[in-house]
Amino acid sequence: MRKVIANINNNQMHWVGDGFPVRNLFSYDRLGQAISPFLLLDYAAPYPFQPTTEKHGVGSHPHRGFETVTIAYSGEVSHRDSSGGGGTIKTGDVQWMTAASGVVHEEFHSTDFARDGGIFEMVQLWVNLPAKDKMTPPKYQGITADEIPNVTLDDEGSNLRVIAGEYLNQKGAASTYSPVNMWDGVLRAGTTHRFFVPVTHNAMLVILNGEVVVNGDQTVKANSVAVLARDGEADFEVVVNQDAKFLILTGEPLNEPIEGYGPFVMNTQAEIKQAFVDFQSGKFGEIPTEA
Ligand code: MN
Repeated sequence: MRKVIANINNNQMHWVGDGFPVRNLFSYDRLGQAISPFLLLDYAAPYPFQPTTEKHGVGSHPHRGFETVTIAYSGEVSHRDSSGGGGTIKTGDVQWMTAASGVVHEEFHSTDFARDGGIFEMVQLWVNLPAKDKMTPPKYQGITADEIPNVTLDDEGSNLRVIAGEYLNQKGAASTYSPVNMWDGVLRAGTTHRFFVPVTHNAMLVILNGEVVVNGDQTVKANSVAVLARDGEADFEVVVNQDAKFLILTGEPLNEPIEGYGPFVMNTQAEIKQAFVDFQSGKFGEIPTEA
């Protein structure tokens, strides 16, 4: 079975803009190549928002060199970007935004969610792009919950959704630039699961809430990620102590230098400097004004 090489817990919340109260569960700053092609995961645990006429979220900001993937668990997020991409994702939906050569975008609670208020819960992941794809045109995939294959794991109500990649021949909904599996779901207390992942992939088990034990000896609590070794083993075992909301992320490592600064992730410092020059000179374009 794959060894757990890091079991990282973070209960420290910080705000991204005024709409996203997140815990950073992993980042390439610390984990680098061990989690390639994944870069970062921010988890906004369930948080109550009061009804408002204000816009909660993050205004206009750029990205280049990677993809942002937003999974809505409760509440709604609206996105608009300079490549003309945009849309609102609702509970269960996924927004897969390929910044690539560069976008300027904004991310706000939807007008409906802001007006009604309610519990907000989401995940945002950053997925790196291979060097050869970093300067391709931006792309936007708005994936609705009904497009994501759902696999039943047992009779207790445990399930797994194939957001990207595949699980037991079920193909995921998103298209990706490098081989990636992104599965999420719920594991019921008292159940045991054995997951198989490609031996050539890096792999992580993210526990958003609940509690599990991996491979008999690693207790993984809420707001945690277990990073698994790429040690030639294919499988790992999960015993569920408390109902758990999870993500399994696996991917073929890119094996390329990672040079990141703020909203840009490239391969060299020169490319980062160029990203600032291009952004400041307006080359990323502008968010279209609302009709
Ligand atoms: Mn963004």
